[in-house]
Amino acid sequence: MIHSDRILMGPGPSNPYPEVMEAFARPVLGHLDPEFISLLDETNDRLREVWQTKNALTFPISATGSAGMETSFVNFISPGDEVVVGVNGVFGNRMCDVASRAGAVVTKVEEDWGRAIDPERLLTAHPNPKMIAVVHAETSTGVRNDIHDLGAGKGDALLLVDCVTSLGGIPVLIDEWAVDIAYSGTQKCLGVPPGLSPVTVSDRAMERLVETPQSWYLDLNMIKDYVTGDGARAYHHTAPISMLYALHAGLGVVINEGLQQAWERHQSCGDELHRCLPELGFDLWAQEGHRLPELTTVSIPDGLDDVEGRQHLLNRYGIEVGGGLGPVAGKVWRIGCMGHTAQMRNVKMLLGALEELTAHLR
Ligand code: PLP
Repeated sequence: MIHSDRILMGPGPSNPYPEVMEAFARPVLGHLDPEFISLLDETNDRLREVWQTKNALTFPISATGSAGMETSFVNFISPGDEVVVGVNGVFGNRMCDVASRAGAVVTKVEEDWGRAIDPERLLTAHPNPKMIAVVHAETSTGVRNDIHDLGAGKGDALLLVDCVTSLGGIPVLIDEWAVDIAYSGTQKCLGVPPGLSPVTVSDRAMERLVETPQSWYLDLNMIKDYVTGDGARAYHHTAPISMLYALHAGLGVVINEGLQQAWERHQSCGDELHRCLPELGFDLWAQEGHRLPELTTVSIPDGLDDVEGRQHLLNRYGIEVGGGLGPVAGKVWRIGCMGHTAQMRNVKMLLGALEELTAHLR
């Protein structure tokens, strides 16, 4: 049986906005139907607004955030290219793996998990890299890496930013920060189920598009005409129509609320968690000044079992929180507050449940 009353407060999917679930029930159009094409165009316009960009090539890849990551490397990296990657968690490491498979020579700039990467270290790691890549919001640690200085100091390099857990939740200013390539996912702060990866690419990056990337499906040379409408809207692959309806609706909710208001809603939920969790014995784990409001990491108090504790929250309250990944498995919890889940009532319910869970420790 599938429980329909879960409160998803983990690092994975947030609860979708109700408008998004309604969108899934709409009649399915063909992927070349003019009505669908105009919905796709409108979705891309909405994405431009949420990304804060004028980039012509802004659209959702038909696959999850990892496909956005892969698209961002294979289309701009040729074997032997030098790439600097910031690594302070799981997803920075994944970037290194993807870049290496595209043939890049990777210079890793590592920082302790739980701490932010100093932008200066990324800018000085290599004298002339083809690309500098970093995760904006590290979902494995709850840390925000700052992007602004990277755009200002990138020189000739392309700047690639993973915005899977930041888009819609905290400011992401693609044009102002001079980001060249960015990708996200639908399932986090956009409040849409998993399945698509919004990407945006600057004109500067498009001038350096690899002629024959090492992927057929993710080759932007082929996809771009269908999504921008510059050429014929010829068949490339069968677009996942219902997922696109859902993204269109989710973006509509964010834009109707106001992007600034959506950021503030995430921030106030995060602030409340950050204020109250230590009082319950859950020390904040991520570096102060770089804590994400949408993903809070806490140390598990002594005397509380990682698995049993999370199981109790799920079974008794229907609240899912995430465990630690890799080296911090069993040591930290990851509490998501994203998209439609980022509501004060969910925060209060979680805090109440944690109070009960830890009563025997006080
Ligand atoms: N990058 C970050 C920062 C993520 O948090 C995730 C997923 O959680 C990904 C990339 C990969 O996205 P997906 O699981 O949608 O493929």
